[in-house]
Amino acid sequence: MENIAFIGLGNMGGPMAVNLLSKGFQVSAFDLSADALAKLASAGGRAATNAADAVKEASVVISMLPAGKHVAGLYLGDEGLFAKLARGALVIDCSTIDAGTARKVAEAAQMQGIAMLDAPVSGGTAGAAAGTLTFIVGGAAQDLARARPMLEAMGKNIFHAGGPGAGQTAKICNNMLLGILMAGTAEALALGVKNGLDPKVLSEIISKSSGRNWATELYNPWPGVMENAPASRGYAGGFMSELMLKDLGLAEETAMQSHAANPLGALARNLYEEHVQQGNGKLDFSSIVRHFHHLD
Ligand code: NAD
Repeated sequence: MENIAFIGLGNMGGPMAVNLLSKGFQVSAFDLSADALAKLASAGGRAATNAADAVKEASVVISMLPAGKHVAGLYLGDEGLFAKLARGALVIDCSTIDAGTARKVAEAAQMQGIAMLDAPVSGGTAGAAAGTLTFIVGGAAQDLARARPMLEAMGKNIFHAGGPGAGQTAKICNNMLLGILMAGTAEALALGVKNGLDPKVLSEIISKSSGRNWATELYNPWPGVMENAPASRGYAGGFMSELMLKDLGLAEETAMQSHAANPLGALARNLYEEHVQQGNGKLDFSSIVRHFHHLD
């Protein structure tokens, strides 16, 4: 069985690493947060003192970091992990980052004889905790075959999108649509409430009608409509607005580079830009409903 180093134990990485432990994998982990490391240790993992210490005995490295600069910083350069890993190691980066950085890091891995997959995920923190994530993978088929038992310990659906970077491109298309749908759902609910409707009743109607989507089915942005959604716990945890803003920015960059039109994605990015500037960056992205309706 592979010996895994897991780097980045945040809202997503923490529960993903715990699922690997519960399926019998050995996990050494590192995060900048001492609290996150302590949680992992209490679930049976080894808390490493830094990333290099975490990979000492590892045949596989999995990373779950905020953005491209963190991923490039972790792996590249004289102090990066590619300089420390043995040839034949497998690296699986599950962070959502730009496809260009994913390809650059994959090329650097190849030069060192290290296999690399970009494997961003969908399914939110609930999917991470339940082990039901969707993995969207870019890289070589034989490397995906090697990664599969570990991905299956953390997720349910595994897609091979194409070569290096293809997982990130597919993930960015998905998240652009998610940002648009969340903002649209918030706007529709606010319109109904302003006109006297109960948000719970309206949500039930939409979720059984043609406007239904992931937000109305599983992640309602209105407080109190869904007990388990971040909206019902003050928008804590979940998927931070600043990360959604990052993803909408990546979609816009991708559209510009490929001369594709993304007017709705750009509109959603502007909404999230304002929302983050108003101090909501750390709140779950469904808090965009506050842009449309004043909630206490
Ligand atoms: P998060 O901010 O909760 O976690 C990131 C973790 O990385 C933090 O614990 C931080 O301390 C750690 N970290 C940062 N730099 C580090 C370094 N150099 N070494 C070690 N640890 C470091 O973010 P998250 O919500 O877990 O998201 C992680 C990634 O997954 C992002 O790219 C995000 O876009 C993506 N994602 C998130 C969700 C979600 O619902 N939260 C869903 C799908 C994808």
